[in-house]
Amino acid sequence: METMDKGDALLLVDVQIDFCPGGALPLNEGDEVVPVLNRWLEVANEKGIPVFASRDFHPLSHMSFAECGGLWPVHCLQESEGAAFHPELKLPAETVLVTKGTRFDQDQNSAFDATGLATQLQRDGIHRLWIGGLALDVCVLATVLDACKLGFETQLILDGTRPVTPEGGEKALTEMRLAGAVILEGG
Ligand SMILES: [Zn+2]
Repeated sequence: METMDKGDALLLVDVQIDFCPGGALPLNEGDEVVPVLNRWLEVANEKGIPVFASRDFHPLSHMSFAECGGLWPVHCLQESEGAAFHPELKLPAETVLVTKGTRFDQDQNSAFDATGLATQLQRDGIHRLWIGGLALDVCVLATVLDACKLGFETQLILDGTRPVTPEGGEKALTEMRLAGAVILEGG
């Protein structure tokens, strides 16, 4: 495992019940990211690295839902059980929550999209991000691309993410590499 250091933050994207097997929009092996990310959370804890966790948090009749003309089944409804983080994810008490998907006019796949997250990270002196979570080819992709565009050194924890489709996942990795992200294999 490459080491995290001062000026780094761990950013976990949407590790929520609805994206895991049994949830409303389940990803194959979505829950398998949990033990991997828990190991990173342990290291972050040892080194005093701040943890940010985004969550998809939709109002009823959100425009991203198929019933409203969007792409996805109803998922991550605000305050629903499915919107909760996976119960085995060991988020520290001081985790900074980043709530997205609350807008009525457009979806927010990226944790940076109109959340103010970049401002907060810059305020905290963060210049490098370690990113994992769900889903590789949707919200993790959008978050990694934004992080690169915003000038953060960006490392994807490959074992700590899963795609909606394998093809989508491969395409996402190519896009991320082109944008300058480092893909961490293993660990
Ligand atoms: Zn969503």
